[in-house]
Amino acid sequence: MTGALWRNWGRSEKIRPARVERPKDAAAVQRAVIAAAERGLHVKPVGAGHSFSGVAVAPGVQLDLHELSGVVAVDEASARVTLGAGTNLYRLPDLLAPYGLALENMGDIDRQTIAGATSTGTHGTGGRFGGLATQIVGATLVTGDGSLLSVNETENAELLPAVRLGLGALGVLVDLTIQCVPAFLLHAVERSEPLGEVLDAYLERSANEDHFEFYWFPHTETAVTKTNTRLPADAERHPRPRFGSWVDDELIANGAYRAICALGSVVPAMVPPVNRLAARLMGNGDFTDVSPRVFVSDRAVRFREMEYALPREAVPNALREVDSLIRSRGWRISFPVEVRSAAADDNWMSTAYGRDTGYVAVHRYYREDPAEYFAAVEAIMRSHDGRPHWGKMHTRTADDLRPAYPRFDDFVAVRDRLDPAGVFENRYLRAVLGPVRVPSDSAG
Ligand SMILES: Cc1cc2nc3c(=O)[nH]c(=O)nc-3n(C[C@H](O)[C@H](O)[C@H](O)COP(=O)(O)OP(=O)(O)OC[C@H]3O[C@@H](n4cnc5c(N)ncnc54)[C@H](O)[C@@H]3O)c2cc1C
Repeated sequence: MTGALWRNWGRSEKIRPARVERPKDAAAVQRAVIAAAERGLHVKPVGAGHSFSGVAVAPGVQLDLHELSGVVAVDEASARVTLGAGTNLYRLPDLLAPYGLALENMGDIDRQTIAGATSTGTHGTGGRFGGLATQIVGATLVTGDGSLLSVNETENAELLPAVRLGLGALGVLVDLTIQCVPAFLLHAVERSEPLGEVLDAYLERSANEDHFEFYWFPHTETAVTKTNTRLPADAERHPRPRFGSWVDDELIANGAYRAICALGSVVPAMVPPVNRLAARLMGNGDFTDVSPRVFVSDRAVRFREMEYALPREAVPNALREVDSLIRSRGWRISFPVEVRSAAADDNWMSTAYGRDTGYVAVHRYYREDPAEYFAAVEAIMRSHDGRPHWGKMHTRTADDLRPAYPRFDDFVAVRDRLDPAGVFENRYLRAVLGPVRVPSDSAG
């Protein structure tokens, strides 16, 4: 069927695909890829549309894989679970509960699909823990000529570091196998602390705490820290009071913050006092709950985001430079800057490839133009050897990304092998990876 207008969550991208298909199994995905290639159309699977970048934009055939969801297989002895690629992360607690399993680490939200999240390098925080892609031990995908390819430790194992985080460039994932861990609880502590002290202690706390992160509201000297400590599943639970956490439940998630952002976009002078009030009021949570309920929050206020991965030791100075930048330009930035961390990993296109990493994420309310702020912050992040999150806004291209990724050319070689006709290309992938060969619907 011809597609309706598709828009991503952040309202930074939109497209009306030539066709939308909803395959029910791997064979239907194969047929869709072969038929599209014969007609010279590009194919792009789309997950939950939560990428801010153009990575999921599908001008040709948009594949909606939500029919390919749920548990495909479980190996209880090794704690490995194979899921349909279109499975939304919010379904995992229920799907994994019968086996007493959980994801080792998670990002801020759970609306994404497992395929979309791993394909862009979605991560949470934890200096000793990797992003979602590090938990993937196997995948089945349909490649550019419509054939089915298994990639795991015994079949085509050399492709795993590419396929786990493939940017949607290598094929259509139909299932993914995750290395899970026994279910666990997290003890969460949220505090308001002086920004200077938090920056001074960032490296130590990132390395020593299980999951440490902080939010800094521009125009304030205060950071709201979140420290999550892993506990066994049979530890005592003290769930978060229903309206207990101002930063997540009240401020970020609900309508009050939407109203504040809307007000700030028409009366910018309101932003600094509101941010100071917010930073003073929030940050006194203390609760213990099952891991997904602590890792994940709602994000009901729409925003746009750019996030850079830096060598972890560069984060404190980079943030000080962002602070000076905002002061010197006189901007009024309502949304907090979020700082997280991840362990070095070996996925070729991972923002944490080969180095312990700190993440700095900047946001703007979706009705405000982020271009000037993001461009200036991007310049700071580039000066610290930063790598942009593939699913978030940035302006980098293949020429300047290649030196940032030691295995960039290996990844492109795999892409050229699995998709020699460029069936899975779109404008974003051509920019960040360079073109394969452009089929006839070059609008992509
Ligand atoms: C409110 C919000 C909060 C966020 N929080 C975090 C966070 O905490 N940490 C973080 O790292 N990121 C975060 N993100 C970014 C988000 O996790 C990524 O952009 C992720 O890719 C979105 O997943 P999705 O299912 O929406 O995929 P989409 O955005 O729909 O697609 C992303 C990519 O995956 C590809 N893809 C999807 N399905 C398949 C498939 N079956 N086979 C092959 N390729 C496929 C698409 O073609 C595209 O290239 C957040 C985004 C939002 C909007």
